[in-house]
Amino acid sequence: MDDATLRREATELTADLIRLDTSNPPGNEAPAAHLLKTYLDAAGIETELVGPDVDRPNLVARLRGTGGGPSLAFCGHTDVVPADEPGWTHPPFAGHTDADGWLWGRGAVDMKNQTATRAVAIAALARSGFAPRGDLVFIAQADEEDATDRVGMVWLVDARPDLRVDYAIDEGGGDRLILADGRVVVTIECGQKATLPVAVTALGEAGHASRPAVGANAVPRLAELVRRIAAYQPERTVVPVVARMIDLVAGPDGTLDDRIARASAQHAWVAENVPPLVATTMAPTRLVGSSARNVMPARATCEVDCRVLPGTTAADLDRELREALGEDLPYELDWLDDLIGGATSAIDTPLYDACQSFLDTADRGALLLPVVSTGFADSNYLRDAWGTVAYGFWPYRTTPVEVHEAGFHNVDERIHTDDLAYGVRAMMHIARELTG
Ligand SMILES: [Zn+2]
Repeated sequence: MDDATLRREATELTADLIRLDTSNPPGNEAPAAHLLKTYLDAAGIETELVGPDVDRPNLVARLRGTGGGPSLAFCGHTDVVPADEPGWTHPPFAGHTDADGWLWGRGAVDMKNQTATRAVAIAALARSGFAPRGDLVFIAQADEEDATDRVGMVWLVDARPDLRVDYAIDEGGGDRLILADGRVVVTIECGQKATLPVAVTALGEAGHASRPAVGANAVPRLAELVRRIAAYQPERTVVPVVARMIDLVAGPDGTLDDRIARASAQHAWVAENVPPLVATTMAPTRLVGSSARNVMPARATCEVDCRVLPGTTAADLDRELREALGEDLPYELDWLDDLIGGATSAIDTPLYDACQSFLDTADRGALLLPVVSTGFADSNYLRDAWGTVAYGFWPYRTTPVEVHEAGFHNVDERIHTDDLAYGVRAMMHIARELTG
């Protein structure tokens, strides 16, 4: 199929998905799953709607392998975050394409663009008579953005082990960075940090607010504890993916500080992303003090959003937090949730090579830059439950990286339709390389 046809088909499918309001909560992903099912059925691909909630199904489509090759899944979530903010240039669920080729709306980058182009890639391959050696699977999963209902990928990996794949491409990556020295790198997400939120409660003694010196107000104590968390310099750890990332940008010579400084000088994206990728981060966010203004409380609490690197345990974080908080003020720590995330995939696999080989044909000289994400995506479940080698990779070239990044969970989310054609080409190339 020529580029113009691919582009039209990918643009229509992405726009149609954007027009279905799948804001999560509540999700309501069924229309999106049905739309994708109809589209893939028409290409002669075997499809199935699966899930514990009929209103929130996952779509699974499969081109059966002829045997002897690895299986590969292309994944994408069908839900989006709400779009109630004012100030959109075009309404968020209109799926409007303007005269300059920009497609606007909620999900244009997160991630109906990726979901749609992966579906178009499989449909185009099926129509061309492509016979993969291993199964080529498409999964459009519900409930990624909120995930409290556990009806999406987290359900799927547990309930449907028969769908296990060797390799997968899911959300993330694809940012094309031009380094200061002129080299071009394109990010590929190979792992994610884990979240482990904690509540820090300063302990004191209640008293009347008219006599602050009597009793032991927990609020000033909490203020001091929060100051210490904010000022804490956590120990640095360089996991293999991040080591490779820093080496690729900065070269292997010198101390870690030298290499980080050189890497950061190469691109603002690197400068912003390296610090949280070499250490635990602890961000104090929600505060709870007294229930009445005239009562000095015995307890005052701050919730801290902690993100740890792959391999860091809750016990490690406990030690770091206690080191940050010091020993002279009374406090309690309460873990607010289990550790979620933190799975990584190996680099230098046949799937990694297939992604690089796409760049070799479409963006000559560009090199994959392996990264660990500070956020969360469903590939974590694939890595964790199935041992799947999963990457986040959706290369784009026309949409500036800043526009792409600014669109996430924000107003005026948009993607250039040239990138929809480019994304389809990338996925078709990767499927052919790996399973052809
Ligand atoms: Zn997303």
